Amino acid sequence: MNKNFKLAQLKQKMILLKNKFPDKNLVFSDGNKNAKVMIIGEAPGRTEDKLQKPFVGRAGKILDNLLESVCLDRSKVYITNVVNYRPDKNRKPSTEEINVFKKLLFKHIEIINPKRILLLGATAASAVLNYVGPLSDIRGKWKNLKIINSYFDIFTTFHPAFLLRQPSQTKTALKDLRKFSKKKIR
Ligand code: URA
Repeated sequence: MNKNFKLAQLKQKMILLKNKFPDKNLVFSDGNKNAKVMIIGEAPGRTEDKLQKPFVGRAGKILDNLLESVCLDRSKVYITNVVNYRPDKNRKPSTEEINVFKKLLFKHIEIINPKRILLLGATAASAVLNYVGPLSDIRGKWKNLKIINSYFDIFTTFHPAFLLRQPSQTKTALKDLRKFSKKKIR
C-alpha cells in the first residue's frame, strides 16, 4: 500500500468523526508527505477551519518565520495537528477529543515516517509524549519514543500562538529551532 492510499484511508477515518464537529471542516495536513520533518500543533483555529489547512492564520505566520530561520518551508516539512477539527469557541481540545484523535495521529506519524518530529506546545507534547508536567521541563529537549512499531526522534518547542502573546520568548524558540535542525539524521 503506498503513502497516498494510506493517507486517503486515514482521511476517511477522520471524515467519519465529523459528526462530533457538525459545522466544522476537516483540517488534515499541509506540506510535503515525503518530508523528513513532521510538525504537530494543537488544533485548527478559525482561519484554518475556513481554508482547511493547518497554521495559515496569525500563528501560522509565526511558524513560517521560525521555519525560515532554519531554511525550512512548507515544501520541506509536513504539518498536522493533534485534533483535526476546530474545537468550538477556540477552546483547547478536551481529553476525550485528544484521545480519539491520538490514535489517528499515531497512524499519521507511522505513514509519514519522518526522521524528526517537532511538537508545538503542551497539547502536542502531552498527546504524543504522554507528558503531564510543565512545558518548560520538556521544551528544547530531544526524546526518542516508540510510536506503533518504530522509534522517532521528537523535539518540543513553544506553540506559535504562545509567541504571539509572549514575543519576548521568540529568541528561545529560534534557539530551539536551531537545535532541532542541527540533529543528525540517523
Ligand atoms: N494552532 C494550531 O495548533 N494549529 C493550527 O493549525 C493553527 C493554530
